Amino acid sequence: MTPQIEFSGVNKYYGAYHALKNVELSIKKGSFTALVGPSGCGKSTLLRSLAGLESISSGTLKIAGDVMNKVPPRKRDVAMVFQSYALYPHMTVEENLTYSLRIRGTPKAEARKAAEEVAATTGLSHLLGRYPRELSGGQRQRVAMSRAIIRHPKAFLFDEPLSNLDAALRVHMRKEIRALHDRLGATSVYVTHDQIEAMTMADHVVVMRAGVIEQQGRPLDLYDRPVNKFVAGFIGSPAMNFLPAVGSEDGRSLVVDVGAPQTVPISTNVEPGRKVIAGIRPEHISVVAADSGLMRVAVSVVESTGSMSYITTATRPELAIVETGRTDVSAGDLIGLSFAPQSVHVFDAGTEERIG
Ligand code: ADP
Repeated sequence: MTPQIEFSGVNKYYGAYHALKNVELSIKKGSFTALVGPSGCGKSTLLRSLAGLESISSGTLKIAGDVMNKVPPRKRDVAMVFQSYALYPHMTVEENLTYSLRIRGTPKAEARKAAEEVAATTGLSHLLGRYPRELSGGQRQRVAMSRAIIRHPKAFLFDEPLSNLDAALRVHMRKEIRALHDRLGATSVYVTHDQIEAMTMADHVVVMRAGVIEQQGRPLDLYDRPVNKFVAGFIGSPAMNFLPAVGSEDGRSLVVDVGAPQTVPISTNVEPGRKVIAGIRPEHISVVAADSGLMRVAVSVVESTGSMSYITTATRPELAIVETGRTDVSAGDLIGLSFAPQSVHVFDAGTEERIG
């Protein structure tokens, strides 16, 4: 099937600055794709290139099989939903919704019917006569989405749409947008710096750094098999622990350095003496008695929220451990750490690429 959106070898320069580097990205019709990465990594540039708000310097961009490189934004048939909502303050909700139809000459009654249908889907039926200033943040967000929906675009493009909202509403809107996407059978591309948002909403996550797509795939595949230390540290919360390590002489263990070297007897395919980084997620470590387990460490801090306990060790580097529920561990305790050998991710110390 022709991808709904396809970037092939796309580069973008702002003057001498190389903002998108050889981007290859294929987005299936009906999928929900999240572009995620730290500030400045190029995710907005990628989205804006798709919308036609930025031109690309080289490569090809196709939407529904057609080359879009030189097609102006309004002819691309995609709808952008911004963080700032960009609603017209002097127009009612209904007028905001029907604006794009009216400028295209849609008869008034038809535009009105379209607005009513969309408002019924997004729960705005009772608010059609209000002005944006008379709406809550969540309602304004819904108007912004409804205004996109009414155009039946080939794709919905979201640029950090939830960052203005408070934490509780953000969690709620996350579910609402995803449900709406499913209901409409839409194709959505969603930019966020929040990896939790990306992981929970999307079925395809694209992790970017400095203009490069570092890895893309299903959310849990990125969590299970990050291709490098950057993706490993970016996906997952709290973040993965990273420990300097070398392959042991007998080739059967890793010697990790946590202030003092400790031999961790896990089978690895790391050659003796090779310098690596061992990565282990806080949720994959369990606390055991100090004389058992794979490592022995002292505890520096214990934080409990009731549902979760966060333990920090007095090692260098520190290790974070997450346990569900309460913990018996206190600051100053000596504890053993246990984990499944297969939950240890190994990266080359130089290239930071995954080994094995
Ligand atoms: P993100 O959305 O991931 O935070 P952006 O795509 O906005 O990142 O920006 C990527 C990089 O391109 C940044 O370093 C930014 O400073 C640069 N950039 C973005 N827009 C422009 C522009 N119009 N002119 C010059 N540099 C820009």
